[in-house]
Amino acid sequence: MESKSEIRSLLDFDRDHLWHPYTSISEPLPVLPVASASGVRLRLMDGRELIDGMASWWSVIHGYGHPRLVAALQEQAASLSHVMFGGLTHRPAVELGRRLVALAPDGLERVFLCDSGSVAVEVAMKMALQYQHARGRADKCRFATIRSGYHGDTFHAMSVCDPVTGMHHIFGGVLPKYHFAPPPQCAFHEDWDPEDSEALEELVAGHREELCALILEPIVQGAGGMRFYHPNYLKEARRICDEYDLLLIADEIATGFGRSGALFACNHAEITPDIMCLGKALTGGFMTLAAVLATDCVGRTISAATPGVFMHGPTFMGNPLACRVAVESIDLLLASDWRENVARIERGLTEGLAPCRVLPQVADVRVLGAIGVVELRRPVDAAAIQHRFVARGVWVRPFGRLVYLMPPYCIEDGDLQTLCGAVAATVAEEGAGR
Ligand SMILES: *Cc1c(COP(=O)(O)O)cnc(C)c1O
Repeated sequence: MESKSEIRSLLDFDRDHLWHPYTSISEPLPVLPVASASGVRLRLMDGRELIDGMASWWSVIHGYGHPRLVAALQEQAASLSHVMFGGLTHRPAVELGRRLVALAPDGLERVFLCDSGSVAVEVAMKMALQYQHARGRADKCRFATIRSGYHGDTFHAMSVCDPVTGMHHIFGGVLPKYHFAPPPQCAFHEDWDPEDSEALEELVAGHREELCALILEPIVQGAGGMRFYHPNYLKEARRICDEYDLLLIADEIATGFGRSGALFACNHAEITPDIMCLGKALTGGFMTLAAVLATDCVGRTISAATPGVFMHGPTFMGNPLACRVAVESIDLLLASDWRENVARIERGLTEGLAPCRVLPQVADVRVLGAIGVVELRRPVDAAAIQHRFVARGVWVRPFGRLVYLMPPYCIEDGDLQTLCGAVAATVAEEGAGR
């Protein structure tokens, strides 16, 4: 345990010099210093322990410090930490590619490895543009997407994020203007209403000559609103893209590797997108890595026309450390009964968050796979609510009107109950004091 004055000096420097995600410099929200983590527990420098409800933004599916992932990383670091991917290859990249091609929806056979989720979205969008260019359809250079989406923070990724929550007006001068369909209304567990995809079809039909691809998050709209929509909407999106001659890009960065109850959210609708982005849980949350999978047709079309190559090549492409830990993480997942385990967490979240349903300050409670969401009627005071969660021994970080849980899959029933109980109690107070 660190002394109080050491912790103080660390936090002082942090506050004065380090930027945190979406955080003010002049009035930063408080941050907690983490000393270590294992399983579902974060250990703070002052000795307190918190049960983690966030899996560090979808990524830490096996819990923190899993010994097999640690060992894989150490072994790989001792033999080959990094080497350029231009003109060279290595076993970790090949083994990862093998697994991704085998597991992904049928037909996704070309793998591009890159650094992070946002970069994967950039890569996917460039692929779609180069594909249309190579077919002699350079005029098909605009994207369509649906509102309430989130695809990352780099420029082209931002251009397909929800225009309101993505603050497009600030970047209005430089962001390309793309086409937004209204978000799906029919929820995952509701009866399908065929009218739900009509607005999307109208939008695509109206711009068919200029549309290069439709990009969406399959089934789960994450940071743009934590909404779960009907698989038939995704089926319809696939049909619409085929009918109006544009590519379908599925951004599975949040949903990949079991989080929604299926290995990939596209599996709920049994569709294959033309391009699929993976990230977040790809390395079990050990380090950053993303992958863009494309059909052979997309790959070959791009390569058949000038310049004959796909125009992208990150310095750390195919980093062996990241690939090796990703291989180990995928093998761990597949060796477990992940489907039953995610179903167990789904039951725990459904039961544990049920008391929130009756609260007047709660607009909706929804659960899909290992994702639980309590949507309030009004935005929460982030600093105050975080403080109350920490006092209850849990790590939950709401945004806007959304309090949500996406714990590591290794969470045991008792910890899950504690986590849900803390959410129910804290949300109950949220109404009382206001
Ligand atoms: C997190 C996320 C991204 C961005 O990934 P980063 O690794 O943060 O760049 C893109 N799309 C979706 C759906 C995400 O959840």
